[in-house]
Amino acid sequence: MTTVVDQILQHVFDACQGDKSGSVADYIPELADVTPDGFGIALATSDGYVYQVGDTAVPFTIQSISKPFTYGLALADRGETAVAQKIDIEPSGEPFNEISLDPITERPRNPMINAGAITSASLVAGPSPEARFERIRRAYSRYAGRELTFNTAVYESEARTGNRNRAIGYMLRSFDIIESDPEAAVDLYFRQCSIDVTAVDLAMMAATMANNGLNPRTRERALAPALVERVLSVMTTCGMYDGAGDWVARVGMPAKSGVGGGVLAVLPGQMGIAVYSPRLDHHGNSVRGVAACRELSKKLELHFLHVT
Ligand code: GLU
Repeated sequence: MTTVVDQILQHVFDACQGDKSGSVADYIPELADVTPDGFGIALATSDGYVYQVGDTAVPFTIQSISKPFTYGLALADRGETAVAQKIDIEPSGEPFNEISLDPITERPRNPMINAGAITSASLVAGPSPEARFERIRRAYSRYAGRELTFNTAVYESEARTGNRNRAIGYMLRSFDIIESDPEAAVDLYFRQCSIDVTAVDLAMMAATMANNGLNPRTRERALAPALVERVLSVMTTCGMYDGAGDWVARVGMPAKSGVGGGVLAVLPGQMGIAVYSPRLDHHGNSVRGVAACRELSKKLELHFLHVT
């Protein structure tokens, strides 16, 4: 049966489909080698019902959308105070891969830029690098409600070409933000970015956040409610690269994007939204991902400052 939500999704899909602007990430061949016009939108309610249109079953790597989830795991493993001593929560206004720390606090400015994300990875507990990665993969899988898998080809390319991230890792080590081997932290970060997801997976991950950290389908807890609040706060101010201000003004939901073409947005208590469309704007955000979220926010009145 076609519901009103299905009709709205289809309408938004049709309205955005013609926009072929932007270009796919091409810093590694695996990302350049996608169908640039792939497009899918999925919406999952906080009680687990999924609506979808377009290419919602196409796998792509999670990339930077991994950052809030690993931050959540670091918070759960180390506690909010210990994590706050290592990673600040202020928007940076700088590119995501800036090789810099806040000059006063000497910490990464937030967990959504690479310096903060690599620090989050370094804080994940586990007896070995394999065990730490497995804990990350399992944690993401609990949000998605299914076993997510690892994309070896993307990981190998990231690891071969990721010298800028290695530079960030060594900078963090020299300031004692990372207290262990920086190569291991950066490698874990490359691995987490290389987990495959679909738009439906991301919508379920967002719906689990919207449902206060409890997966509405499997009833498995992915994150404690107090930590969900912390993660969503940081996504609100820092989630959309240096386009975060425009995003809050025009969409008004905590969100995170990645260079694989995914965007995920959370409406606490109500739903998660995900879009897959690999052409990116100059910030690194999916062009049609941003456009579709704007349209959905308008049509479904999702902006958190909207008063009915
Ligand atoms: N693996 C990518 C990097 O850190 C992720 C980029 C992104 O999605 O922003 O360079």
